[in-house]
Amino acid sequence: MIFKCKNCGGNTIYDPDKGTMCCPHCDGLDSEEKVTGTETMKSCLSCGAPLDEVIGEHTSATRCPNCGSYIILDERVQGAYTPKLIIPFKVSKNKAIDLLHKEFGRRVFTPSSFLSRASVSKIEGTYVPFFMYDYNTDSDYHGTGTKVRTWRSGQYEYTETSYFDIHRELEADFDKVPVDASDYMDDQCMDLMEPYDYAALEGFMEKYMSGYLGEKYNRDEEELASRAVKKLTDAIESMIGDSISGYATVSKKSLNVDAKKKLAQFALLPVWEYVFSYGGEDYRFFVNGQTGKVVGRTPVAKGKVFAYGATVFGVIFWIMSMIRLLLAAFV
Ligand SMILES: [Zn+2]
Ligand SMILES: [Zn+2]
Repeated sequence: MIFKCKNCGGNTIYDPDKGTMCCPHCDGLDSEEKVTGTETMKSCLSCGAPLDEVIGEHTSATRCPNCGSYIILDERVQGAYTPKLIIPFKVSKNKAIDLLHKEFGRRVFTPSSFLSRASVSKIEGTYVPFFMYDYNTDSDYHGTGTKVRTWRSGQYEYTETSYFDIHRELEADFDKVPVDASDYMDDQCMDLMEPYDYAALEGFMEKYMSGYLGEKYNRDEEELASRAVKKLTDAIESMIGDSISGYATVSKKSLNVDAKKKLAQFALLPVWEYVFSYGGEDYRFFVNGQTGKVVGRTPVAKGKVFAYGATVFGVIFWIMSMIRLLLAAFV
């Protein structure tokens, strides 16, 4: 499908600054109509150019290489691939470019071509597929803590180490633990993109995709559930760790997490992606399309992923509707 302007026939796109559909050709607002192709999309609905070069295995929205129109592939946003939730773009293309300038404009490692107009204008907004998992968890932790007492008597110094059994039980419900469902997107980068403000999740509407690229999920929620469990287990371990204090040392003996999946919802989250080619290699930079957080691998420190800039949400894990920590039986 394509969204066209009723006034001038141009391709209307979702404008993050205005928060509505906009025609870049005549500045018409909310003047769009949805035009649907008759069969599986192989050519542009605006100019007829072939699209096979820009449609990959998982592509759900793309840009015509000939006329620049944004096309959404019906069969990849419908049926089993219908997204349940979406966070529409909040950061515009110009704002994303500004943020890259702010982070890298004055850095020594930055090659001069990195932020050149020609290069940086190739930045594209992409809706990355995610699954959002809801889990009920019951956890049981056992550890050993030590307390050390030293004193001096005469010419001797005495040290007494006492050992304590530490036991914690934690019941917690996790809502919307995000796991990216794209093979192309680097998991580490996507994890660093977080947090999004999940309160801004909306019911999916196709028009939010107009003006952006997109992918359907590459793997299903069953395949990706183990990554959600890993994330919430890490969160549980850190919560339990925070509840233990007053010991010289603490060592974990066991942590059993019984995680029951309640729900998995397919969602699209907004990311600006800038691919910078330098010295025969591609370096990928991402700007969170909602919060503006910048993540990327620099040409200098190869392989290492950096997150730049603070997010406005601080360190929120996910929305947890219920937490019950039992300080059970510790001696
Ligand atoms: Zn128009
Ligand atoms: Zn076209």
